[in-house]
Amino acid sequence: MIIIFLGPPGAGKGTQAKRIAEKHGIPQLSTGDMLRAAIANGTELGKKCKAIMDAGDLVSDDIVAGIIGDRIEEPDCKPGFLLDGFPRTVKQAELLDQILKNKDRKVDVVLELVVDDEALVERLNSRIAETKARGEEVRSDDNEETFRKRLGVYNDQTAPLVPFYKEQGLVKSIDGMKSIDEVTAAIEVAVS
Ligand code: AMP
Repeated sequence: MIIIFLGPPGAGKGTQAKRIAEKHGIPQLSTGDMLRAAIANGTELGKKCKAIMDAGDLVSDDIVAGIIGDRIEEPDCKPGFLLDGFPRTVKQAELLDQILKNKDRKVDVVLELVVDDEALVERLNSRIAETKARGEEVRSDDNEETFRKRLGVYNDQTAPLVPFYKEQGLVKSIDGMKSIDEVTAAIEVAVS
């Protein structure tokens, strides 16, 4: 099963994606995690992406499509995979279609997590406070100013993917304002 997970930053997408991927025994492919790993490892790719990510902008479509194209060649992706944070633009969705078509595969379902923008900013501020209280480092793009920028980028560039995939009859919208367990249960119903 190939699942795409759409949702604004801070909507709880990562948490839910992990649960669903584990439940279905498929890998969770997060382009954000992959890019952060590249930065942490000091690779050329990481060096190229760090400033862009810190500013809350999007890395180029070709770079992320290349990363995903390579990753899904790995044997663990054979039974399926869950895409978390990719595609993020219509261009990326078209590149993904092409990559999958070449392998005779296709997307099964697109989950859209729907959450109110202001609630997201409130959640962000509590997440920052909790992370600091645990003595952990806050992500460098997790501050209100960059977060609002990422939200704007989502609304401008990623939200158009909802009508793009709706036309293909693939979208299931999930109310992301409920509790974590309720959201997981709603996603399970949508996926099954
Ligand atoms: P995330 O962890 O998904 O919130 O991603 C963090 C940052 O990584 C984003 O703000 C972008 O700068 C970059 N990024 C992650 N995925 C993509 C993508 N599919 N396309 C472009 N940039 C991305």
